[in-house]
Amino acid sequence: MRSDVRRRVPFAWVIGPLAVLLVAVLIVRWAGGDAGPGAAATRSSPSTSPSPSPTPQRPPACTDGKTLAAARTYGDWSKTLVDTRFRLPATYVPPDLVPVSQAGLSGTVEVRSLVIPDLTALGAAAAAAGAPVDVEAAYRSWADQQSLYERRLQEFGPTGPATRTARPGHSEHQLGTTVDFKTKGALDVSTKWASSRAGAWMQANAWRFGFVLSYPSGQDALTCYPYEPWHFRYFGRVVASIIHASGLTSRQVLWDEERTASP
Ligand SMILES: [Zn+2]
Repeated sequence: MRSDVRRRVPFAWVIGPLAVLLVAVLIVRWAGGDAGPGAAATRSSPSTSPSPSPTPQRPPACTDGKTLAAARTYGDWSKTLVDTRFRLPATYVPPDLVPVSQAGLSGTVEVRSLVIPDLTALGAAAAAAGAPVDVEAAYRSWADQQSLYERRLQEFGPTGPATRTARPGHSEHQLGTTVDFKTKGALDVSTKWASSRAGAWMQANAWRFGFVLSYPSGQDALTCYPYEPWHFRYFGRVVASIIHASGLTSRQVLWDEERTASP
C-alpha cells in the first residue's frame, strides 16, 4: 500500500541526492542491459526531498562514546545510528518481536514483525538459488549484549576480541532489525563465509530484499568494525536499493541523518 511505502521512506533529504545517483546508475545498467531483478524495488520514487545534501559527510572517528542516538523511537528503526559512539537506551525493547520461524527459517531468535515479509522472501529466494540460509543471531537485548561483552572480555582480555564486540546499547542487534545469517545447517559462520555459495549469494542479493551489509570488507574506519559478511541490517527495499547504488556504507547514510537530527 502506498501509505506503507511512505512510512518506510526515511531521511528524505539524504534520499534525494542518493536517488539521483541511483537513477543515473540504473540508466547506465539499463543501457548495458543489466538492470537486474532488484530494479523493480526502486520504482516508487522517494525523492520528495526539500533540501538535498550535495554529498554525505564523513562520519566521526570510531572512538568510544555513550551518546544516545537522536532518532531512537521504535518508528525510527531505519534511521537510528548505532555505533561505538551512538547508542540505544537500556529500555529499548521493540514491542513487536516475533520468532524468525515466522519467516520459514529455523531457530527461536526474534526479529521485529516488520522484517518478516522480506526475510521470508529472502529465505525462499536463497533456497531457490541453491544457497539456503538460516539465522545465526537476531534481536539481542541490552542485558544479552552486556553478558556477551563481559564474556569476551573475561575470555580474551581487554585487548582481545571484546574490543570488537559492541558494548551494551551499541549493538545493531538491539534494534530487532539486524540478522546474522549462516548457511542452512551450519553450526557457525566465519569471515570466509563470503566465498561460500550462501555467503556469496547474500553479498550479491540481500539488498534486493531490503538488507544491507553493515560492516563490509576494508571499511573499518568508516563502519567501526572489522569485516562481518554475515551481519545485515534491514532498511526496507527502497532504502536498501539506494544505499546499495550509492556505494556508501550504511553508517555514512545514518550519520547524515544523525547530524541533522541532533540539536
Ligand atoms: Zn551481528
